[in-house]
Amino acid sequence: MPHYKIACIPGDGIGKEVVPAGQQALEALAASQDGLSFSFQSFGWGGDWYRAHGEMMPADGLDALRGADAILFGSAGDPQIPDHVTLWGLRLKICQGFDQYANVRPTRILPGIDGPLKRCTPRDLDWVIVRENSEGEYAGVGGRAHQGHPIEVATDVSILTRAGVERIMRFAFRLAQSRPRKQLTVVTKSNAQRHGMVMWDEIALQISREFPDVRWDKELVDACTARMVNRPASLDTLVATNLHADVLSDLAAALAGSLGIAPTGNIDPERRYPSMFEPIHGSAFDIMGKGLANPVGTFWSCVMLLEHLGETAAAQRLMRAVEAVTADPRLHTGDLGGQATTAQVTEAVCRRLREPATAAA
Ligand code: ATP
Repeated sequence: MPHYKIACIPGDGIGKEVVPAGQQALEALAASQDGLSFSFQSFGWGGDWYRAHGEMMPADGLDALRGADAILFGSAGDPQIPDHVTLWGLRLKICQGFDQYANVRPTRILPGIDGPLKRCTPRDLDWVIVRENSEGEYAGVGGRAHQGHPIEVATDVSILTRAGVERIMRFAFRLAQSRPRKQLTVVTKSNAQRHGMVMWDEIALQISREFPDVRWDKELVDACTARMVNRPASLDTLVATNLHADVLSDLAAALAGSLGIAPTGNIDPERRYPSMFEPIHGSAFDIMGKGLANPVGTFWSCVMLLEHLGETAAAQRLMRAVEAVTADPRLHTGDLGGQATTAQVTEAVCRRLREPATAAA
């Protein structure tokens, strides 16, 4: 009987509220499905850990995670600690340490959610953004010199390697091939960035030859923002660099109704290390500790976690339970214009999961 070890890292802000909610949903799922069980180990890393220990996670923290089948992550961000410290000290340390080079971000308008686009039906917006997650603009290469002097200089160098681009393109084409429309848009900026992005385009063309059944096109990142708003149905799977996809996926989340709904997976496709799943929102200090955070982004991340583990039936059951709950406006949190609390939404999802399988379907 499959048993999975899940490492939970709630992190900061509302991460501390939504990760326990995700754990509750997984527990409810296991309780109602023979042959599925989880054990959870929680790690108190993040801003509080930094205040106590001077680092966001222990130096040997990756070793503690290595044996997990998957990681459920909340968020990293603290008003008293610079953002680059919280980001590089925890989330990126795990993503890079475990070479989770494919960041996958599905976007759909869930039942009952009112997206901001006037003429867009839920059928028109069904995307997966694949973000290169290991190099590019966030490679961490660069530096500062002459600090505090008028001649101070700072650089961030975007690094694109042939191996890095080939593996993310292959991953994206394969993902596009697995979806009904078999369609990929390669996001680029090779008109202005004339070295790395030109190689990016060349490698896209090269890898496309391995996938003759996938229709693909190229789009400049700036034009892509307009296309997402004006012609959402013309897109299906997208692949973009670290920075470009970071921006596009926040836009995608907003177009699907709320940042509180969107999930993501940081995947090691070769399965050498555990992959990590998290809602795309941050710490949201304005609503922290009030029980108002929307847990749907975390539930959907749990769906991705289950799919990654090969638990397709369990993933579908959880997704159906989430969709049944979003369909009821009385169960919408404040970000969706409702008044429901994190606990109410979580309980509603767990209740549906406890119902016999056919009723939850
Ligand atoms: P960080 O700096 O860690 O990225 P942030 O507070 O700047 O965090 P987000 O947390 O991504 O940015 O979200 C911006 C705003 O969107 C929040 O202030 C909050 O009001 C709202 N929001 C985000 N996620 C949720 C959620 N799960 N439920 C309800 N509202 C949310």
